[in-house]
Amino acid sequence: MPRILSAIFILLILTAPATADWFEDFKASATDEQLLQLLYEMPKGGDLHHHMSGSGFAEWWYELGIAAEKRGYRYYTKVKLNNCRDYGWQGFDTTPYHLMFQTILESKWQQLPECERAEYLPLDQLNDKQKQGFKNSIVLDKPYEGREEFFEAHWQRLGDLTGDPYLRGDLIARQFQAFAHEGLIYVEPMVTAFGYQEPDGTPILPNDVAKIFRERLKQKDIVDTGLTWRFQQAILRFTPGAEDSLRRAYEFVAENEPYVAVNMVGREDDDKGYPLRFLPTLRELRLAHNNVRLSIHAGEVDEPNSHVRDTVLLGADRIGHGLNLITDPDTMRLFRHGPYMVEINLISNLLLQYYDDYSQHPFPEYLRTGIPVALSTDDRGMWDSTMTDEFFVAVKEFNLSWDEIKQLSENSLKYAFVDSETREGLLETYRSRISRFESRVAKKGVSALGSKPALKRGFICRQYEICAP
Ligand SMILES: [Zn+2]
Repeated sequence: MPRILSAIFILLILTAPATADWFEDFKASATDEQLLQLLYEMPKGGDLHHHMSGSGFAEWWYELGIAAEKRGYRYYTKVKLNNCRDYGWQGFDTTPYHLMFQTILESKWQQLPECERAEYLPLDQLNDKQKQGFKNSIVLDKPYEGREEFFEAHWQRLGDLTGDPYLRGDLIARQFQAFAHEGLIYVEPMVTAFGYQEPDGTPILPNDVAKIFRERLKQKDIVDTGLTWRFQQAILRFTPGAEDSLRRAYEFVAENEPYVAVNMVGREDDDKGYPLRFLPTLRELRLAHNNVRLSIHAGEVDEPNSHVRDTVLLGADRIGHGLNLITDPDTMRLFRHGPYMVEINLISNLLLQYYDDYSQHPFPEYLRTGIPVALSTDDRGMWDSTMTDEFFVAVKEFNLSWDEIKQLSENSLKYAFVDSETREGLLETYRSRISRFESRVAKKGVSALGSKPALKRGFICRQYEICAP
């Protein structure tokens, strides 16, 4: 070969981008543990769908609950039943009397009759068995636990722990650190600013809660994560006063950074929360407000219905879950190649029993017919899982290509509720990180991995037998 041609040839080899084939080779030869390790170290985009309370790992709640005492918040949790109430009044409304590990503030505990007070212990006085019970009570890890346990018991148990704005700030810090560890650069959590209280039970107004959050977000441990964030305010859709909650949430978001969007949550099998109920209210709110985005849970239900279609009419740009979108052909056509995105939560959907196994999940159909999708974690504290696990499930169950993995991360930034300059910046960061990672792993294979071992939490251990030593 003439010298000039061979020089060009060598130059081409050196500058050629890593081909996607390396990932097919990797999948064919790697163990599950090595695949998890690769996905853990892999730079990622954002998580656009997670609830801050449901994202707290059980040990975080326990530790933060105890640490809250320095700010005057002392928590008690129910560790036994003394049959203090008769059949006439068991309190079956929101938190049934017999529910173990309900956690309440000391000020509320003091108002209980003596018999009931003896059922509780301060969090820092639990013995090892009780500590384990407290933690187990907020993780969905048993085969017989499912949707009912999740919707009707886990949240109620957390109780007053979710009403302490300083504890919430520390929870945000831990959550952001954990996401940054997994290589994310953007998060858009649902963090409520409503329903908080002082240690004596005096309510704290949402605007004041937002101020507390803003102060917390300036602290070094959060800034050092390097993450970019925006917040969503969610409302519970099936309650009698949901329209008023929507108004309050919308008005709150309009004037409180870093809030940018309103979401609607709550069981869709409760038909009182159907999407079109909110159309008049949203039209009224759009008369005055110009800066509130909508991402709304829709189609997270077993039956076919028009919830996804109706939710687009409400003005949502993103759909949470969108499971039954697949039963609505006209709306499927509308979604192909955008402009709407479906936030996919694979682990959540399995554990909440929308599917028996992943062969029934519509995710690959959406992904491979050009419907924009991204992976997210929903309530990972309660699943005891990570963002890496979501990618692992997707690769393992649906044989994702490397390009598809990158597409998912790009979508999680392209559909973020940020201004275009921020979006471009995030995409640029992601692209440069992922191409560096890709060329390193494509060249060195498995030996490029292992600088820090992947987290192996409960879900990945139970479901795929990849367990911490
Ligand atoms: Zn959700």
